[in-house]
Amino acid sequence: MKMFGTPTRLSPRAQVRHRLFALSGNNCALPGCASKLVDDYGNIIGQICHIEAAAPGGERFNPNSNNEARRDFSNLMLLCYSCHIKTNDVVEYPTERLRQIKATHEQWATLQPVLQTNIEKFVDASLWQEFKLPENYRNISNEPHDEDFYTHAKSLLTTIAQLPMSTRSFYAHAFIKALRGDLWLVGNLDGLRVALNTTYQQISTHISILEEKHLFGLVEEADDWMTLPFRGTRYGLCGLDRDDNGIYLLYLIHQHFSGDPQAILSIFEDLDFTLLDA
Ligand SMILES: [Zn+2]
Ligand SMILES: [Zn+2]
Repeated sequence: MKMFGTPTRLSPRAQVRHRLFALSGNNCALPGCASKLVDDYGNIIGQICHIEAAAPGGERFNPNSNNEARRDFSNLMLLCYSCHIKTNDVVEYPTERLRQIKATHEQWATLQPVLQTNIEKFVDASLWQEFKLPENYRNISNEPHDEDFYTHAKSLLTTIAQLPMSTRSFYAHAFIKALRGDLWLVGNLDGLRVALNTTYQQISTHISILEEKHLFGLVEEADDWMTLPFRGTRYGLCGLDRDDNGIYLLYLIHQHFSGDPQAILSIFEDLDFTLLDA
């Protein structure tokens, strides 16, 4: 059927995904399920379920629909993992029933203003949205760089962009509070915790995520503490690579924006990487 085009799985648009979360009440849509879609640390655990499958062979696929309609808001709902699996039973969950469940759930969610605000805070638009990598980095440096610099910068910024929103926010504040030395960025962990008015339990989640991505490291009090204006555990921001290109990028960003914390937040929280370009 040519008029509908070849069925191709298209991923839902960012705006649609955002609207889905905003109208989810941060709860799985299936009746009786209490699972959250975004956990307390901003990690997305919900899944996007197609009422009519995105491609032939999928559940409830409708050959008379089209690719755009299949990724439209009206055809999608947010479920927890285990409920998503349940909906693979198309006898139990036919199209009409899922449409009804979606409508009922969204109606319920609009009556949950507080949850809605919460989820706006947590939903990581970047995880679902393309971000734009810098093109020339000339706002932070006029010097020409070698291939390695661009390669490492790209992978570092991409890694940061894929972090949960709340972890990026933590990272941005750690970046602002860090002291810059000769190709190092180091800060006082306890000072950071106090500044963020949070607990070690909260920040330890962010730290383990960042450590796993090689963006962050902790050092217990070291011999050279006298060169730093604080004692105790320090954190260091890391650059992903051995040749220091990644840390060099962070160093340049820190140098250029050290008097402008708002810009640092725009870069790492809002992923406005074009601020690095001239
Ligand atoms: Zn599904
Ligand atoms: Zn569920």
